Amino acid sequence: MHDDSTLVELRISRFVRERLRPALNRAAVPLAIESWDAPGEPVPFMDAIRQDYSPFGTGRTWGRPWGTTWLHVTGSVPAQWPVDDSLRVELLVDLGFSKATPGFQAEGLVWSPDGVILKAVEPRNRSVPLTVGPGGRIDLYIEAAANPDVTSGFTFVATDKGDPATAGATPIYRLRQVDVVLKDQTVWELLQDFWTLTGLMRELPTGLARRAEILRALERSIDVVDPDDVAGTASRGRAALAEVLARPANASAHHLHAVGHAHIDSAWLWPVRETVRKVARTFSNVLALIEANPDFTFAASSAQQYAWLKEHYPELFARVKAQVAAGTFVPVGGMWVESDTNMPGGEALARQFVAGKRFFMEEFGVEPLEVWLPDSFGYSAALPQIVAAAGSRWFLTQKTSWNETNLMPHHTFRWEGIDGTQIFTHFPPVDTYNAELSGEELARAEHQYAEKGSANTSLVPFGWGDGGGGPTTEMIAAARRTESLEGSPTVELSSPRRFFEAAEAEYPEPPVWLGELYLEFHRGTYTSQARTKRGNRRSEHLLREAELWAATASVRSGVAYPYDLLEQTWHTVLLQQFHDILPGSSIAWVHQEAERNYAAVADTLTDVIETTVRQLCSTGDSTVLLNAGPYALDGVAGLAGADAAHPDPAAPAADVTLTRTAAGLVLDNGLVAVTIDADGLFSSVWDVIAHRELVPAGSRGNLLQLHRDTPTQWDAWDIDEHYKRNTVDLTTAESVEVILDTPDRARVRVTRAFGTSRVVEDITLSAGSPAVDLHFDLDWHERQKLLKLAFPLDVNADRAASEIQFGHVFRATHTNTSWDAARFETVAHRWVHAGEPGYGVAVANDSTYGHDISRSPDGAGRSATTVRLSLLRAAVFPDPAADQGRHELRVSLRVGSGIPEAVAEGYRLNLPLRTVTGVADAVVEPLLRVDNPAVVIEAVKLAEDRSGDVIVRLYEAHGNRSTARLIRHFEATDVVETDLLERPLAEPRVELAAGAPLPVESHALTLTLRPFEIVTLRFIRRR
Ligand SMILES: [Zn+2]
Repeated sequence: MHDDSTLVELRISRFVRERLRPALNRAAVPLAIESWDAPGEPVPFMDAIRQDYSPFGTGRTWGRPWGTTWLHVTGSVPAQWPVDDSLRVELLVDLGFSKATPGFQAEGLVWSPDGVILKAVEPRNRSVPLTVGPGGRIDLYIEAAANPDVTSGFTFVATDKGDPATAGATPIYRLRQVDVVLKDQTVWELLQDFWTLTGLMRELPTGLARRAEILRALERSIDVVDPDDVAGTASRGRAALAEVLARPANASAHHLHAVGHAHIDSAWLWPVRETVRKVARTFSNVLALIEANPDFTFAASSAQQYAWLKEHYPELFARVKAQVAAGTFVPVGGMWVESDTNMPGGEALARQFVAGKRFFMEEFGVEPLEVWLPDSFGYSAALPQIVAAAGSRWFLTQKTSWNETNLMPHHTFRWEGIDGTQIFTHFPPVDTYNAELSGEELARAEHQYAEKGSANTSLVPFGWGDGGGGPTTEMIAAARRTESLEGSPTVELSSPRRFFEAAEAEYPEPPVWLGELYLEFHRGTYTSQARTKRGNRRSEHLLREAELWAATASVRSGVAYPYDLLEQTWHTVLLQQFHDILPGSSIAWVHQEAERNYAAVADTLTDVIETTVRQLCSTGDSTVLLNAGPYALDGVAGLAGADAAHPDPAAPAADVTLTRTAAGLVLDNGLVAVTIDADGLFSSVWDVIAHRELVPAGSRGNLLQLHRDTPTQWDAWDIDEHYKRNTVDLTTAESVEVILDTPDRARVRVTRAFGTSRVVEDITLSAGSPAVDLHFDLDWHERQKLLKLAFPLDVNADRAASEIQFGHVFRATHTNTSWDAARFETVAHRWVHAGEPGYGVAVANDSTYGHDISRSPDGAGRSATTVRLSLLRAAVFPDPAADQGRHELRVSLRVGSGIPEAVAEGYRLNLPLRTVTGVADAVVEPLLRVDNPAVVIEAVKLAEDRSGDVIVRLYEAHGNRSTARLIRHFEATDVVETDLLERPLAEPRVELAAGAPLPVESHALTLTLRPFEIVTLRFIRRR
């Protein structure tokens, strides 16, 4: 037989394009259009319909960037239309959609005149099924959002469209179509047959009989469909395909659980307020789809998004609620938002689950058991324990498939965290969270699936994300056709839970991956938008303080606990940990708003702290010092009683001396002597106690380094390895001056100018402290530059520790393997530590997350360790003015430090003593203390159920097995160990030596914690 397959494939494409598609609608009638432009921000429906509308029409431009235009469309269905099961009436709208990705351009929401939402219209989902029959009247409103395309096709060209102040006012869309159409359902089905079969055929090997069989069937179908009467012959075309569509799948075919989904970023290339509308649009589409396909389930994460719906679209929320009850609309993830997991602090990451699950349980009575983070930028090794402690069982992401260097070896495995907890984990091998169930995607999932031979099941999330509108009726048609189709993986419409139960049963002993799921990509997200990051860090610590003192005041003095205020504040902080806000990858609008929100959070919490403390102490005209941290500071005890910050708190601190020598200014406090040379750099850091020089021969510490930072793609997201090849050491100082010289404290100010920027750095040494404190006040005006702060250290460390949530991870400082080499920029919370057995150095910070810790030879060629912090970047996309202006941050260098001292140093910089004036001299005794510095009290609060019970969360911070006595200074009738949601554990993991019920008179109990273990205790109080 002659091979004409290439020509036949071309013929099929052209026939679909030129004959089948145009025949989809038998008839179309334009509707009458009037319009009204909302002058500012979006308005509610009831306000919009009361406005004066002006005549409008297709072909006319509408929509300034970020504006909203309301279209009032009226008309009637032609009386002669032969409407039946195969011919349906629909509204068809083209707002002026482009071929660009849906979700990054105009979108519309269709309302009935009485305020009921029908469905959205979006670039790849433009029609709305109507229930009006022939002769029936159409009267609808379309809320059209003129969201500009900020992506420029993801060329990463700087754009001013991300800020309404600079986005311009010229209309950016031209209305193309608002018609009522008569849709031919048989032609539509034939189009779906062609799409699935063509997609499958193209994935099959050319030598396979099945491929040829499909090709010939498609050809026969074209032969029998009359191009001049597609409507009259479409059913014959379908009949020609029936046999190839009916052939069952191979017995060994890969099995896919297809879960309807729409990944909606809670803010990104649009502001938070637009996400509120994106959620309404997508969810309304889903409700319409569920109505037509009762066996279809849709999974949506983020309690925050449901909360927006409840607040702004109560009617839609009620309909969602009904579908959740029916099991078709599935809340997943259990978190408040799909947060970043690199940077949120331990308590905040725990609260993502507490707030998220509480919402889902209270509103819907369901508890999601799978963690759903398809898109976050790498996953902390603390997460498995937090997930398990929140009562969840499974974890899903696909982001690791974006790795630039190494391929993760598994798709289904157990992921083990720093404390040893394992979570059953799945990476969908389809490598996307926006699948459309094409032949290409299904084949990719099957080919890539790494567990072949041991297991054969994976999950595919399908639906357009980010305001693309979610799953479509076409995608469901594809799922139905591939349920069992020879040559294709088998597809089952399913839910996340059904998938995980099946996958776990099929693969009971999967392989184990230990430690973080580091994303070898987007390494700039630890540093971009430094003010947003600082706001997060400050808010987390203020929340700790506010809860601690508010709980103390409530228990001691009966002061009302500010439940609502704290809950709202947590919700703000949790929202802003979303995976494009805290990482700094959003437009200017989002970050400006985030900074305003953090300022408001700081005001609110400072007020809570000061008010509750005043209520706790009698009023007066004196002051009280508060220490909310675990360790003593300046003689004020912390919650861990012990003073881990200072080597010997009992010994009187030596005076600080400041001496001018030939080498420079020498600051010495008997613990450390630092020499600041004429350039303002550390030519020597001498550990007086250990008798040890820390600055390697030939280097200098406290060195600011400016790098070219021009990533290959994804500017705000990425720091590329090539940044290191262009470095300017900022060694020139404008001035180096002594600004404080007392026995308690010496301070030297170094001022530098570089480019168009300026930095004023204060270097302080205090009596009794082995840490050198650095305060930076930066006026930053560079573009596409990365500013690092370097400390070369004469320490031979092949690995270094970085603080993460509730513990720390060790990472290699070398580049032996491709996995080590790819970790050239890493995240740390409050401290990093580089050490050799018996000796180490900690570098702590109050708002920095990005670090690199590497090995480099000293002047004599011996290996030393360089710790660098990434202080600032200045990406130009998506916010062209990112990070411009003033920044303030603190760093400390703590000599002679083990891990315990590093932990203490991190708390010292982030939880300084608070002075509250206007109260009589008093010591505010916290509700509890522990007697072992390894066991840190992370949260003291009143219970979420508002019963008045006291909740205490502790964790083991040193990586050791540690026993501690927890001493209680308030009355309680019992204590139980709970999960993060404060529910008693069926099998408490911690031995409560006091037994149960707790002997009230003992006021102490002994706990033994495994390394990095998190324990939550509920102290039950008399009511
Ligand atoms: Zn995302």
